Amino acid sequence: MISEPPTETYDAIVIGSGIGGLVTATQLASKGAKVLVLERYLIPGGSAGYFDRAGYRFDVGASMIFGFGEEGTTNLLTRALEAVDVDIETIPDPVQIHYHLPQNLDVRVHRDYEKFLQELGDRFPHEREGIRKFYDECWKIFNCLNAIELLSLEEPRYLTRVFFQNPLACLGLVKYLPKNIGEYARRYIKDPQLLQFIDIECYCWSVVRADRTPAINAGMVFSDRHYGGINYPKGGVGEISRKLTEGLNKAGGRIRYKSRVTQIILERDRCAVADRAVGVQLATGEQFFAKRVVSNATRWDTFEKLIDDRDLTHAEEKWQQRYQKSASFLSLHLGVAANAIPPESDCHHILVEKWSKMEDPEGTIFVSIPTLLDPDLAPEGYHIVHAFTPHYMEAWEGLSPQDYETQKEATAGRIIDRLETIFPGLEANLDLMEVGTPRSHRRFLGRIDGTYGPIPRRKLLGLLGMPFNRTSVSGLYCVGDSTFPGQGLNAVAFSGFACAHRIAVDLGLG
Ligand SMILES: Cc1cc2nc3c(=O)[nH]c(=O)nc-3n(C[C@H](O)[C@H](O)[C@H](O)COP(=O)(O)OP(=O)(O)OC[C@H]3O[C@@H](n4cnc5c(N)ncnc54)[C@H](O)[C@@H]3O)c2cc1C
Repeated sequence: MISEPPTETYDAIVIGSGIGGLVTATQLASKGAKVLVLERYLIPGGSAGYFDRAGYRFDVGASMIFGFGEEGTTNLLTRALEAVDVDIETIPDPVQIHYHLPQNLDVRVHRDYEKFLQELGDRFPHEREGIRKFYDECWKIFNCLNAIELLSLEEPRYLTRVFFQNPLACLGLVKYLPKNIGEYARRYIKDPQLLQFIDIECYCWSVVRADRTPAINAGMVFSDRHYGGINYPKGGVGEISRKLTEGLNKAGGRIRYKSRVTQIILERDRCAVADRAVGVQLATGEQFFAKRVVSNATRWDTFEKLIDDRDLTHAEEKWQQRYQKSASFLSLHLGVAANAIPPESDCHHILVEKWSKMEDPEGTIFVSIPTLLDPDLAPEGYHIVHAFTPHYMEAWEGLSPQDYETQKEATAGRIIDRLETIFPGLEANLDLMEVGTPRSHRRFLGRIDGTYGPIPRRKLLGLLGMPFNRTSVSGLYCVGDSTFPGQGLNAVAFSGFACAHRIAVDLGLG
């Protein structure tokens, strides 16, 4: 704690340059705020970052990108870039996911909605009507979202404005807000295997089954893939954060790398009843002050590591009773000769051999091959393959360096063996392999236990339990995947728009 009021240098300091942090920073800068972003790593992007090895450019995490549509209001990445006068060339992906599931269930989610319904209906002819009713219900949710400007639900004047502009869409959203999508799946679909399919449709981005997946998020994902579509940024996912930082600089903001925040500086307010966030301290001891502080670190990292006041963190306990950390990932970043990947392959695949193991570590394998869309990410005649599967930190801690390497190799071997069923000859065509473990995710992304983000501990009332951007500490806001509406690039962009909007109103900016 400090006793003297500090000099306020910035309107807002943002801790972290993930997409949530960068959208907050660019939105604020575009409204005239003086913004500083402090990033612990060497480049921006966090889970949407990249790394280069031997002529290959790998996406660290995300490769299936929503939010680059041209119309409506849910194309938040397009909008975030436009706000700071930058743009990105994107490559449309004709198939969102190619599923390889138990009992030889093979389904592709085509960009074309009718083509997808036709293909799924061919696998479950007795459920054609239920399938259409279920996905059409998702469209109802999406159409409500896509009719209104997506800003802070914590700002009453905005809520009143959008309500009067579009009362039906708002009432629609109020209806779906406390619901999980499993309720609708069971209402329209009876076939147990098809219900399992709906579960993997949810699990592959929410990392929980349909019963725990908020209907609002499902409506967004299951419809936007056919509306704005999945579009890959030319040059790799890292281009998104690179362009956002370029836009931030253009708008007068600033970003500093290798700047790890170790403490949020608190000041007792004038009435001496509460603490207020007034700045941050870096590992180097440097201090920066601002009228508002935004944390793009996870909520666990923010409240357990950056705030040195147990009374304040107490308020977070309620949230932690509802949400827990999801698993991290074991990631294989492979460079492979093109022979292993037939040219007509789809970019994204999901492999599950046993439904009962779907949620277990290594139960589901996710695969992305972005070079099928942008060949320039690998040397000519080669592809990049990112294969990842859930894994917990516990399995990777306390190992000797040698045991750690041995375990990495053994796990990678098991994953590659299983991928041979989709891509025969994968191992024989391997040119390069980098293995990332939950420890790598923790180390490079600064995320506690390398977690992908919060998941409900039990069945909750849809999205109602997710925290918004304001926190129990005055002047401190959180943004990113541990705030409403959750994980995924377009979702954290939403959280960034909402956070910047709330702060702009608090600071009296236009
Ligand atoms: C393997 C994997 C695959 C994924 N696939 C997809 C996908 O296909 N599509 C999709 O939409 N989403 C996907 N996601 C999820 C998506 O990437 C994340 O939800 C999203 O990028 C999270 O953004 P964020 O802004 O919340 O935070 P993060 O990306 O976690 O960024 C936080 C930033 O803050 C920095 N930071 C943290 N602490 C400090 C500190 N103390 N001081 C300074 N800086 C700090 C970090 O270094 C980091 O740069 C995937 C994630 C993973 C891990």
